[in-house]
Amino acid sequence: MNDHLQDLLANNRQWAETTKQREPGFFTRLAQQQSPRYMWIGCADSRVPANEITGLDPGEVFVHRNVANVVVHSDLNALSTIQFAVEHIKVKHIIVVGHYGCAGVRAAMRGIRVGLADNWLRHVQDVRLRHRRRLDHLPPDQQEDILCEMNVIEQVGNVALSTVLQDAWARGQAVSVHGWVYGLSDGLLKDLKVSMDRPESVVNVFGEAIKRYPRGPAAVSADFADDENDDISLGSPGAGSP
Ligand SMILES: [Zn+2]
Repeated sequence: MNDHLQDLLANNRQWAETTKQREPGFFTRLAQQQSPRYMWIGCADSRVPANEITGLDPGEVFVHRNVANVVVHSDLNALSTIQFAVEHIKVKHIIVVGHYGCAGVRAAMRGIRVGLADNWLRHVQDVRLRHRRRLDHLPPDQQEDILCEMNVIEQVGNVALSTVLQDAWARGQAVSVHGWVYGLSDGLLKDLKVSMDRPESVVNVFGEAIKRYPRGPAAVSADFADDENDDISLGSPGAGSP
């Protein structure tokens, strides 16, 4: 084993010792059960660690991460994790957290091919396509930041429309979904104010959030639908897709 891995194991022993001294019984308590109030759905990017940036200890946040924090209705990995969080752990809040400077979002925005992940990032490209009238008129750097935010809003909608959340709300379970975005350059989380806590709130909250991003001048092509609302319903890319 190389020196760097030995460093990690040494760090771990130090951390475990320090934690035990600070809070006797910490590991004994955690070993018996976890009862976090929060679920975090974030990007796999190493610069966005859920616990550190929210000041939470082990046992306080249930985490699912993938490239570009995407929640797809056919992704059994994400759905199983959400189901476990909602039905067994009974988290109170699910937070989808994107981040500015996301390489996955950048690749989707610019159409950069990166390999197998192209197929995964197709979901982010779909977000871009749906909201192109709100994105295409912006300078390139702003386009990427806004797509990071829109991608979070879309994924919040996907979580809220999942069978897991719909069933939980039908049972009267108190669980809400939120969308945040993290700034790599300042370390700060921004609330996108797209919180949903019951089925009736989903479409309205989603629509109001998307409307915060103004559209540019009307496109010339007749292929592009020109209805103000054509990209604010939840679902697949808009009817005007080329
Ligand atoms: Zn990312």
